[in-house]
Amino acid sequence: MDMIDRGLSEEQRLMRESCRAFVNDFVTPFIRREWQREWSMQPDGRLPREILAAADKIGIRTLGVPEEFGGTQLEPATEVQTFAIIAEEIARGDSGLADKLVQIWKVSVLLRNLAPRHLQERWFPKVVGDPGFLLAHCLTEPRGASDRWLPYNVPEAAMHTKAVATGGEWVINGRKQFISNGYDASLFVVYANTNPKVGMLQGTSSFLVPRGTPGLTIARCNETMGGRFMNNGELVFEDCRVPADHLLVEGDALGKAGVYFRPGKIIQAAKNLGVGMAAFERTADYVQNYVQGGRILIKHQAVALRLAEMATSLAAVRALLREAAHAVDARAPDADALCNMVKVFASEEVFKVAQHAMELHGGNGVMLDFGIEKLVRDAAVFLHMDGTVDVSRFKIVKSMFPRTAGAYAGPEG
Ligand SMILES: Cc1cc2nc3c(=O)[nH]c(=O)nc-3n(C[C@H](O)[C@H](O)[C@H](O)COP(=O)(O)OP(=O)(O)OC[C@H]3O[C@@H](n4cnc5c(N)ncnc54)[C@H](O)[C@@H]3O)c2cc1C
Repeated sequence: MDMIDRGLSEEQRLMRESCRAFVNDFVTPFIRREWQREWSMQPDGRLPREILAAADKIGIRTLGVPEEFGGTQLEPATEVQTFAIIAEEIARGDSGLADKLVQIWKVSVLLRNLAPRHLQERWFPKVVGDPGFLLAHCLTEPRGASDRWLPYNVPEAAMHTKAVATGGEWVINGRKQFISNGYDASLFVVYANTNPKVGMLQGTSSFLVPRGTPGLTIARCNETMGGRFMNNGELVFEDCRVPADHLLVEGDALGKAGVYFRPGKIIQAAKNLGVGMAAFERTADYVQNYVQGGRILIKHQAVALRLAEMATSLAAVRALLREAAHAVDARAPDADALCNMVKVFASEEVFKVAQHAMELHGGNGVMLDFGIEKLVRDAAVFLHMDGTVDVSRFKIVKSMFPRTAGAYAGPEG
């Protein structure tokens, strides 16, 4: 038994196996065969619907949706650890596909915890019933992302998107950018300022906004360098009216979003690990078959050393990921810090792993049809998804030393 399997329950092992079969049988052959498809500038048809339908068939699309609504229920005590196992396997096949699917899990966990019963009854069956149904979580704005992650809890750092309660409705105005599934989601969780006089931890509320709500415009699909099968989008809200009962959390929505972010960062690191594993597996295969100087590459010691470094980095990421996922499932006090640590550590280590993979593939490493450069592009995106490296590090130190590193860096009060 190797490190990947060690400590897994029977349920986790079986899920990992069926997910691996799905990736090996559907995803990887599709990515290799249709390597040009990610460059299509028609986002609607970039990823064939059959892939989502196949993911649905093996039950990995609706993880996080309660069983009573037809979702795939995981053992609650190890749910986040299982998310990590499945996210890694999907991303081993394609990072963008993993991005697409995990947003469903993450937002479902949020809705399960925060949405009133009648909204869960309305929306979960729709998520389950349509393999093309996607969810999105909209925080980032043109002038505000890192400040929200820290957060600087002062009025001047608050969200520019605002929501005002009028006559039984909330009227939302503003703009969100860089949103995963933002181009094609059917349902959006949107954060807006509802009290400009206080810091964002007290003055931010969250809402459910269905696609097609008048005043909501999907302004564009961003063409990203990696993870291209997830359609990242920009949204504009112009007097967008949602019923009063579409409010999820009033005032302290950012604090309550911890139920989304903690599993979210574990899943982020796990997808990242999947990209690294794909880079390692393909490189390990290549260096044992490709001959240069009369010998297969691995016989050249510099090549062997690089492979050892790749394997060591991945083992270290996996170990920290397990520790952090375990802490989240156990609701441990150091879970927040560990989540940020593994998110940052994975992004930097896997980026180096992908670089080694590209270098060990020589010229083939930079050819689009060979598929290794895709892993470098996919790995690069993780550095600033879910918070940049620097801001995530700041969050780590802030959670350790809240009274000094955690205090607002602006003028003394
Ligand atoms: C592929 C992808 C998917 C994404 N998905 C989502 C999503 O689903 N939902 C969502 O809401 N957002 C999403 N994002 C947004 C993502 O969270 C932000 O890109 C990220 O938080 C960084 O924000 P920014 O791009 O505005 O950079 P900025 O905040 O403008 O930062 C620019 C640089 O300045 C540094 N910086 C900024 N402020 C400070 C500070 N106070 N102290 C120190 N350094 C600072 C940063 O570290 C960075 O290096 C996604 C982004 C990408 C690329």
